[in-house]
Amino acid sequence: YLLLFNMKKINQFINGKEHLSKSSRFGDIFNPAKGEKIGEVSFANKDDVQLAIDSARAAFPSWAGTPPLTRSRILFKFKELILRDMDKLALELTNEHGKILSDSTGSVTRGMEVVEFACGIPHLLKGEFSENVGSAIDSWSIRQPLGISVGISPFNFPAMVPMWMFVISIACGNCFILKPSEKDPSVPMMLAELLKEAGLPDGVFNVINGDKEAVDLLITDPLVESVSFVGSTPVAEYIYHTSSKHNKRVQSLGGAKNHMVVMPDADLDQVVDGLIGAGYGSAGERCMALSVAVAVGDVGDRLIEKLTPRVQSLKVGPGTDPEVEMGPLISKVHLQKVQSYVDKGVSEGADLLVDGRSIALQGYEDGYFIGGCLFDNVKQDMTIYKEEIFGPVLSVVRQQSFDDALNLINDHEFGNGTTIYTRDGDTARSFTNQCKIGMVGVNVPIPVPMAFHSFGGWKRSLFGDHAMHGMDGVRFFTKLKTVTSRWPTGIRKGAEFIIPTMK
Ligand code: NAD
Repeated sequence: YLLLFNMKKINQFINGKEHLSKSSRFGDIFNPAKGEKIGEVSFANKDDVQLAIDSARAAFPSWAGTPPLTRSRILFKFKELILRDMDKLALELTNEHGKILSDSTGSVTRGMEVVEFACGIPHLLKGEFSENVGSAIDSWSIRQPLGISVGISPFNFPAMVPMWMFVISIACGNCFILKPSEKDPSVPMMLAELLKEAGLPDGVFNVINGDKEAVDLLITDPLVESVSFVGSTPVAEYIYHTSSKHNKRVQSLGGAKNHMVVMPDADLDQVVDGLIGAGYGSAGERCMALSVAVAVGDVGDRLIEKLTPRVQSLKVGPGTDPEVEMGPLISKVHLQKVQSYVDKGVSEGADLLVDGRSIALQGYEDGYFIGGCLFDNVKQDMTIYKEEIFGPVLSVVRQQSFDDALNLINDHEFGNGTTIYTRDGDTARSFTNQCKIGMVGVNVPIPVPMAFHSFGGWKRSLFGDHAMHGMDGVRFFTKLKTVTSRWPTGIRKGAEFIIPTMK
């Protein structure tokens, strides 16, 4: 009974306050390190979604009419509050997601950087002006907010990914409804409270917790102007098609399979550090995780020799332990899925050099842990090569030449991130120029663009025309209007029945 009493209950956040849904549907929230239920999240129904849309609609005219600098000042205050509560946010994130505390802090910081970028957004909202496009006629373009934006986010970054979306949206003058992942909903609710404390008017930011039912209501509602999605590719594709069919603007980011090309001249210590951090950090549950190392020429054996002991000695445990390098996976179902991928890799003939499947941690026997796994001699037609595993499983694929490595990457269905490790500038340039991937590194393991650039992949890692934040974010969250104007004192010509001609 004491346990039930202590369980947290996450509701909705609508019109500046917590809203108790009448819905009887809810999801369980777990602590993945302990494998125990720690709370419940209410799943919104039609009435809740309607209420959020009504409140966003009511708030929009005044928010859109608020000077951009005044909006930015609220975001500036929001940034201060994030810094004030950084430790609390990171701890809650680790409790529900499992990643290590320092990584949680890092991810909140990456979200906060979008706020820092957005504080300067008035500069980017400036339009263009042309004097005398005709005799005494001037023309100018302005960017205006869309109205109501919706964002749907994944479990792996419950602070950063929502901030990629809602910060830019509200800085541009829109009202926003966030549907966070039902697996770790507490941090988005904390961010909603911080925005309120920062002075954001009620209704500008709302959180609808729930599942597909809420998502479908949001992305088909005629009052919603734009949909931002980040998650797995099948859902990203569904969101893109459904939202477009309902005439929304959509940016829909999906899954990934990120390759590191290791050239024979690469600094192998740097390579191994990069692979360990980017392959096993956050237990591989990052869309920019490195899951394939492409060993070119004769570098394969040397790489495996250095890499294997490092994977074997990864420190796995609860994310709150400062000694730990890798926490648990998000859920039991996901743990079973990752384990079954490893089984499949073995049965399809890859060499499993490090097997993390049977890890046992004293005091955390029920946690969703798997140790680091390393495969060698993985082939292009194997399931573990083709599909996104989203766990701490690294595949080494051997290729004869740079061209073979490049073709391998370009033939993969995903195109989120990639990197090359080499000392040769020519090779690096050919790679950055020819790879069909959205975010590319050179001797950098995770080439995540900063907030003032834009984040987004190619191929089946992004559906739509716009990436997240940076200038692409500003374009996505604003509509272009172009005005052509003449004052009555200008030259009078009488009625004109033709398009202006050269004469
Ligand atoms: P997911 O696709 O299962 O869920 C994402 C969101 O969609 C959640 O809010 C969920 O409630 C909702 N959802 C799930 N199924 C739905 C359905 N059938 N209809 C409507 N909504 C639905 O993804 P996840 O497991 O939370 O996150 C992991 C995935 O996200 C990985 O594939 C990862 O690569 C991807 N990801 C991509 C990026 C990127 O920038 N490209 C960033 C982070 C994560």
